[in-house]
Amino acid sequence: MDLDPDLLDVIVCPACHGALTVEDAASVLRCEQCGRGYPVRENIPVLLIEDASPPTSGAAGTGPEAG
Ligand SMILES: [Zn+2]
Repeated sequence: MDLDPDLLDVIVCPACHGALTVEDAASVLRCEQCGRGYPVRENIPVLLIEDASPPTSGAAGTGPEAG
């Protein structure tokens, strides 16, 4: 990927406004806070919550109770 550093400086996660980290291998921008992954198409980040991949694991929400 060849993303504009200035662009990376100003964009944040649209879901939680967290900082985004470039994952070259997966061609995504990963949010450090909520863990969502935003796809990058033609070197343009697609910052849409609908298009984001969900957090990889341990997301808050429904789940079995500890026990
Ligand atoms: Zn986020």
